[in-house]
Amino acid sequence: MTGVHSAGPGAARRIQYSVLIMTDAPHSPARTRVAPSPTGDPHVGTAYMALFDKAWARQTGGRFVLRIEDTDRNRLVPGSEEQIYETLDWLALGPDESPLLGGPYAPYKQSERLDSYRPYVDQLLADGHAYYCWCSQERLAALRKERADAHSPETGYDRLCLGMTKEERSKLPGFSETPVVRMRIPDDVELGFHDLIRGDVRAPRPDDQVILKADGFPTYHLAVVVDDHLMGIDTVVRGEEWISSTPKHLLLYKWLGWQAPQFAHMPLLRNTDKSKISKRKNPAARLMWFREQGYLPEALRNFLQLLAYPTIAEGEEMESFESFIQRFRWSDISTGGPVFDVTKLDWLNGQYIRSLDVGALADRVLEYAVASGQLTDPSEAAVARIRAGMPLVRERLTLLSEAVPKLSFLLVEDAGLAFDEDSVAKLKGDPAAILDAALATLEGLPEDGFDAETIQQALKSGVCEALGIKPRVGFAPIRVGVTGNRVSPPLFESMEILGRASCLARLRRFADQLAG
Ligand code: GLU
Repeated sequence: MTGVHSAGPGAARRIQYSVLIMTDAPHSPARTRVAPSPTGDPHVGTAYMALFDKAWARQTGGRFVLRIEDTDRNRLVPGSEEQIYETLDWLALGPDESPLLGGPYAPYKQSERLDSYRPYVDQLLADGHAYYCWCSQERLAALRKERADAHSPETGYDRLCLGMTKEERSKLPGFSETPVVRMRIPDDVELGFHDLIRGDVRAPRPDDQVILKADGFPTYHLAVVVDDHLMGIDTVVRGEEWISSTPKHLLLYKWLGWQAPQFAHMPLLRNTDKSKISKRKNPAARLMWFREQGYLPEALRNFLQLLAYPTIAEGEEMESFESFIQRFRWSDISTGGPVFDVTKLDWLNGQYIRSLDVGALADRVLEYAVASGQLTDPSEAAVARIRAGMPLVRERLTLLSEAVPKLSFLLVEDAGLAFDEDSVAKLKGDPAAILDAALATLEGLPEDGFDAETIQQALKSGVCEALGIKPRVGFAPIRVGVTGNRVSPPLFESMEILGRASCLARLRRFADQLAG
């Protein structure tokens, strides 16, 4: 019975609370956030976090916030912030509150919130939880080197400045006029915490973390805690690389007298060789890459959703975000380092492409082609051709980017069609005779009713049967003549779209070229 007594009412509340999480019972509206730093092309991990942030906010009827963490002024890359907005919107993972959208906790950019941090630093200094440190970069570097040379296991700051006034410290070597402020990590710092995904987690003992830099800017560790608190964030979703920082963050919450949020540390995404996915090694780590390549945002979103999360049922890979929101539970995320396998994404993208009707697919292809520069200011006729050709390529597409190149023969002038040399060289039999027979056959067909079925029947009898050759041999020169290549979308349907006059003109040119 002693156990029950000593647990007290606080513990009872804690137990209830953890039962709530474990059973994933209805939850009060959550406030989640993603907090990328605009230091380059947005990383795919940002979208990955946003997806789970947004799913949880939607499921609980809460709000999803985008905050820009731009206090590291040296690493800012122009344009990066806009790319974060664009790519999240593109994926339909846009926030409810952001620097662009505003919201009740504006501003949402750390560089515009600089005044909010200093009072908390002063409070921590006054309470003895933080102290000034005047050690120069040179001294800290020398300390690191000395320890490395001595193979010392010590890595943390040696607390030279702790308890000193500026005056006292200035008499010692390695002094810098502009101090930083460090946390004073207590000996009994709590290293364990509860993670929504991982359950009870233990992190290593932290160092006396710098919270205010010499330039007066807060470091990530202070800013993230202050902002998450002031913005009412109650669920922090972030990568597992932040687990080791969590004890520091929990200390700051405690010292400042604030209720800490819940933490969900997502698994790191890995390359197929299991290494950590990075922009340097893998183009797919760049969120913009997927758009450039011609992936559909819904396919990428679905793919990210399945990284570390089970499918709705065996073999049911395709799932809407709405359905995912309904069934999402933190406890179902697996922590095994999901592999970022682009071949799986390719497959999913093909599935999504084929799930669109041809009109919608043509819209997406055209939008892609113009945005990527595949087409510049296409004429109405060109647009009509792409639309007409879409049923011919739909079954064969993996990426949106493949459609226009496959249909480009429909867009060129008859006189401008180039006949691929390799395709010409590989023609079998007597291409000149085949083309003569094909021209005579097609000339005999009416302009009206020049449809795929009619063309195929006519060429079968007028070319293959008449010359006693196999369709594979007989149709090859016609295909090269009409499309420019021995590999093309279905031939007779392509000829129907081009029309009789255009087919005749192309085949005559090709026959002339072969004769010449
Ligand atoms: N600015 C941090 C990053 O870009 C955010 C980490 C967090 O979500 O707390 O990784």
